[in-house]
Amino acid sequence: DRSAAPEQAAPGGQVPPETGAPPLNQPRLPGSVEIVEGCRLPVLRKNQENEDEWPLAEILSVKDIAGRKLYYVHYIDFNKRLDEWVTPDRLDVKKLQFPKKEAKTPTKNGLPGSRPGSPEREGVRAASPATPVPSLPDSAEASQGSNGTARRLIPSQPGRKRKANCGGGDEDSQDSSDGVPTAPRMTGSLVSDRSHDDIVTRMKNIDCIELGRHRLKPWYFSPYPQELTALPILYLCEFCLKYLKSLKCLQRHLTKCNLRHPPGNEIYRKGTISFFEIDGRKNKTYSQNLCLLAKCFLDHKTLYYDTDPFLFYVMTEYDAKGFHIVGYFSKEKESTEDYNVACILTLPPYQRRGYGKLLIEFSYELSKVEGKTGTPEKPLSDLGLLSYRSYWSQTILEILMELKPDNGERPQITINEISELTSVKKEDVISTLQYLNLINYYKGQYILTLSEDIVEGHERAMHKRHLRIDPKCLHFTPKDWSKRGKW
Ligand SMILES: [Zn+2]
Repeated sequence: DRSAAPEQAAPGGQVPPETGAPPLNQPRLPGSVEIVEGCRLPVLRKNQENEDEWPLAEILSVKDIAGRKLYYVHYIDFNKRLDEWVTPDRLDVKKLQFPKKEAKTPTKNGLPGSRPGSPEREGVRAASPATPVPSLPDSAEASQGSNGTARRLIPSQPGRKRKANCGGGDEDSQDSSDGVPTAPRMTGSLVSDRSHDDIVTRMKNIDCIELGRHRLKPWYFSPYPQELTALPILYLCEFCLKYLKSLKCLQRHLTKCNLRHPPGNEIYRKGTISFFEIDGRKNKTYSQNLCLLAKCFLDHKTLYYDTDPFLFYVMTEYDAKGFHIVGYFSKEKESTEDYNVACILTLPPYQRRGYGKLLIEFSYELSKVEGKTGTPEKPLSDLGLLSYRSYWSQTILEILMELKPDNGERPQITINEISELTSVKKEDVISTLQYLNLINYYKGQYILTLSEDIVEGHERAMHKRHLRIDPKCLHFTPKDWSKRGKW
C-alpha cells in the first residue's frame, strides 16, 4: 500500500547503517553523475508492518518540479502496483548501479508484472489448502485479471475530433454514434509482448478516479486521453462510465444522463445484487469505458478496443440511487478453448468481501446453463490465481463432502463427474486436487483422502461465505453466436 510510505525526509536513524546518512533532499553523488532512467538503487519504503525497508528499485522516470527532482521507481521484486514517485531523500545513492546495456527489468515469460518473488506469490505458498485466502496481502481477492492475448486491436485513429470544455468533447463525444470513438489512446498498445511495453505504459498515469461515492487510486497505466492524465482527479459517471475532466462537467453530464444501471439486460437479481449482460458490439462506448477503468487495476491485460467479440457481465449493488458497479468479467462470444472468462475484476472498494468469488461463481453458473465446462483465460494474474484456487477448492470439496457411502463402501466419483457437476474444466479439477494434496495411490487405485484439517478448514471457509449465487434467480438463454454471422 503506497499510502503507507510517507513522502517525507527519512530521519537519519532510518538509513541502513552501512550506507551512512545521505543528506536530505540532495543526494551526494560520486562526482557529478546523475540518476537517470534505468539506474538501480535501494529505495526506502514502508512494508506492510509499517517498518522501513530498502528494496532494490529501478528508476523509470525523473521529473523536475520547481528545481526539485522526483523519481518514479519500480521495486524490482514487487508487483508494479507499488510503483510510485519518491523524493531524493529516499534513495540510497551510495549503492547506485548504472544501467547496463540491457537494463530492462527481467520478467518471466517476457510478461510485465507479477514476478516470482512478489509478496503475492509467497501468499500462495503460505496459505493453508482449505482456506487459501487468509495470508494474502492487502489487495488480495482483488483484481483477477487474466491475460488477454494480443488480438484484434484496431488501428489508431489520429484524426479524431476535439472540442473544447468537458473532456475534449460534447456530451456525446464518447458515443460511437459517429463510428469514431474519441479517446482511448492507441499508443503503448497493451499487448502482452514485452517489446511493446514502453516506458509510458509502465507508469501509472491517472492519480485518482472519482466514481460515484468512491475515490479510486489506480494501480497501473490505463490509456485514457493524455490531456486527462495531468488532472488531480478524473471524474466518471458511475452509470455510463463516461469520463469527464471536472466535477462541473460531471454535474452537467448527470443532468442529461438517464442511466441508473449498466446498459444491456439484467439477467440476475437476488436481494441487492444484480448482473447485467452487455454486448460489446451493441454497447461499444460503455464497453470501451469499462475496459479503460478496468485497465487501471489489471496489469498484464490487453485492452480490447475492439469489444465486438465480447460480452461483459457487470455485477451491481442496488440502493435508492441506482445500481452501482461492483465488478465485472468479460467473456468471448465464441471460445475455441473453453474460456468462460477473459478478464475479471472486483473494484478496489469492494475487494476482500466475497464479491470476487461471487463473480467467479456466476461465470460457472453461465457455463452450467450452456451445458459446458469452462476455464479462465491464461495466464491468470497473481491475485486471480488465488481467487480461482480458493473457488475451485471450495467447490470441489463441497461436492466431495456431500458424497454418501455406497452400500458401506467408500463413495466413488470420477474427475469427469466432478467436472460435469461444477462446469469446472477437468484440468482445473485435477490441479486443484493436487494443490489440496488429496490424491493418494493405494492398492492400484486412486483414493481421495479428506483429512480433519481439510474438512474443518473447509467448513470454516464456507461459514464465512455469505454471498452466493442463487441459480433460480438467473434468467439467461445462451445464444449460438456461430450462427449469427458477423458479430
Ligand atoms: Zn452517464
